[in-house]
Amino acid sequence: MKTFRFKLYSSRRNIKLHRQIDTAGLIYNHCIALHKRYRGLFHRQLNSFKLKSHLVKLKRSTKFHYLSELNAQAVQDVVERIERAYALFRRNRQHKVRCSPPNFKKVRRYKSFTLKQNGWKLDEATHTLTVGDQRYRYFQSRRIRGRIKTVTIKRDAIGDIYVFIVTDAVDHEAVTRTGKSVGYDFGLKIFLTASDSNDIISPLFFERNAKRIAQLGRSRSLKAETSKNYQRARCALARRHKKAANQRHDFHFKLAHRLCMEYETICLENLNIKGMQRFFGRKIGDLAFSDFVQILKYEATKFGTSIVEVDRFFASSQICHCCGEKNRALRDLRIRRWTCPHCGAKHDRDRNAAINILKKGLGQRPLA
Ligand SMILES: [Zn+2]
Repeated sequence: MKTFRFKLYSSRRNIKLHRQIDTAGLIYNHCIALHKRYRGLFHRQLNSFKLKSHLVKLKRSTKFHYLSELNAQAVQDVVERIERAYALFRRNRQHKVRCSPPNFKKVRRYKSFTLKQNGWKLDEATHTLTVGDQRYRYFQSRRIRGRIKTVTIKRDAIGDIYVFIVTDAVDHEAVTRTGKSVGYDFGLKIFLTASDSNDIISPLFFERNAKRIAQLGRSRSLKAETSKNYQRARCALARRHKKAANQRHDFHFKLAHRLCMEYETICLENLNIKGMQRFFGRKIGDLAFSDFVQILKYEATKFGTSIVEVDRFFASSQICHCCGEKNRALRDLRIRRWTCPHCGAKHDRDRNAAINILKKGLGQRPLA
């Protein structure tokens, strides 16, 4: 599976797509209401096949005629999305994760609809996408490979529209393997501390943007929510957030690509992001480690690199990698450098942790 994302040219006719997304949002809310009522009456989950056939009937009535503005398969996809959301909710509850069932959404916040086999046509030569009877041009940044599975039309906070094309293409990139392996410890200033000293320094784009984002946030909060100025300020803020996210995404992909090309095995700690966020504040969210790990895993499938996750309760930073002695005094996070009381080896906290993660990941005991 591979996703291609293209931005549509901004044009007045895009309003048609916005209207279709709004319709999808209305259908979503209608279905949520039915789900809730059904559960209240029968204490059971509403069957999605029943719901789909109900929507087909609804379309014929004059009151709900607006449903036919949206492609029939896109309507069914809304039902399936709710089904998936409920499945996730049930699974979360089984695992005792705090969560609430799917709920109503503001229509203007509703983001997208998905088309499957029909309702769209793609002409790569002229880079136009036809949805319904309307043609839209998109910025073609690369060629589409594979058979197209779904086409999703998505809008962002600024009102730009993107098309996401999912195909069945699989990427394989041939590289000569060196058999090198590496362990990484995540950190704040140094994004990845490597067991072989090839550290990756964090770029902190967000830090650079943070000041501007705070400024824009303040300027928005001073404006009346119904005013045009408010809308303008909201867009400026959203645009800045988007820029920061794009920079981060780009950095993550390039880094993941480079690492997977170089190493055959990469060992990481599996992280408790929520816990860390409470600990360090926003910076962790900024670096978005979990995003990076996901991207790394995706890139790894291309190159055949294996990613090994080491249990986070393994005391990687407290064990001396030379002799295996556990030094409990190191629970204090302020200690950055230390000398092992057992063997006298001098350690840098993060480097030692990275080496331990590598050893553990390669299936060795953290002993020399
Ligand atoms: Zn030691």
